Amino acid sequence: AKRSGGNTFEVFADKMAIQYEHELHLRNKLQKAIEQREFEVYYQPYVSARGQRIIGAEALVRWPQPDGSFISPAEFIPIAEQTGQIVPLSKLIMRAAIADLAKWQVGKNFTLSINLSVKQFQRENIIGTVSELAQEYQVPLQQLQFELTESVMVEDAQKVFRELAELRTIGCRVAIDDFGTGFSSLSYLSRLPIDTLKIDREFSQSIFTDPASPTICKAITDMAHGLNKMVIVEGIETPEQADFFMRQGCMGLQGFLFYKPMPFDEFDKTLAAETTQ
Ligand code: C2E
Ligand code: CA
Ligand code: CA
Ligand code: CA
Repeated sequence: AKRSGGNTFEVFADKMAIQYEHELHLRNKLQKAIEQREFEVYYQPYVSARGQRIIGAEALVRWPQPDGSFISPAEFIPIAEQTGQIVPLSKLIMRAAIADLAKWQVGKNFTLSINLSVKQFQRENIIGTVSELAQEYQVPLQQLQFELTESVMVEDAQKVFRELAELRTIGCRVAIDDFGTGFSSLSYLSRLPIDTLKIDREFSQSIFTDPASPTICKAITDMAHGLNKMVIVEGIETPEQADFFMRQGCMGLQGFLFYKPMPFDEFDKTLAAETTQ
């Protein structure tokens, strides 16, 4: 038993070492990529639940590799958050997305959603960055929505709340991303200065397989509507899922059933095709 215990520990230590080296490697590689601006921004349109027409899009970062593959943001965003690289990285993403928004032919009700990390609120002046970029590219602040996860409710809540409120004061919208996966206290939710709740795909994709899921989704949407918040549902892959959330009165639907994330040009064509319909 002693022997196998020792072996287990060694395997564990090896795994830790490999993981650590991998992260260190990524961190250095990320630094170069930020300096060389190696990132692209893809856009995933979302549609109105009723008319199923494009009402907005979410900006999603892509890190292309020489072999044509991408490193997933799910892998490098958490590292960038740990190291603080999220601040310069996010600035690049925000600039690219706002510059792209200025080029599309979209109506004034179109909303561009940009993901923010709570770390950014601790380390930079978000309001300043956002207003400067909107000014520089002549984009109405009303067209911007910022998505934050429920982690805003734990770290430095008061400061973050004030800044979210200020983002809304200057005209932007604020959304809570991946709703239901973190630790939200419901009383916090009612005080959060936000416009939109995004239901995580963990719930939307399991409404017909997990008996608890439709109940949770109904409770979330009823509560959101009772508090005058809009609901956007993520990860819609089937017409049945879309139908369920349409009946719940959700405002927006996002998922592979409608569109996958796509590069600028493809989104431009998608918009043009929709307006000529
Ligand atoms: P997220 O903000 O929850 O973004 C939605 C993710 O779900 C995206 O993954 C999108 O491609 C994927 N998705 C959308 N519809 C469907 C669907 O119908 N089925 C399935 N299976 N997946 C769907 P992606 O692009 O890999 O991004 C992963 C996460 O990385 C994002 O999750 C977000 O937390 C983070 N992220 C991405 N871009 C940025 C960024 O610019 N800044 C920050 N801070 N985080 C980002
Ligand atoms: Ca998001
Ligand atoms: Ca999400
Ligand atoms: Ca997510």
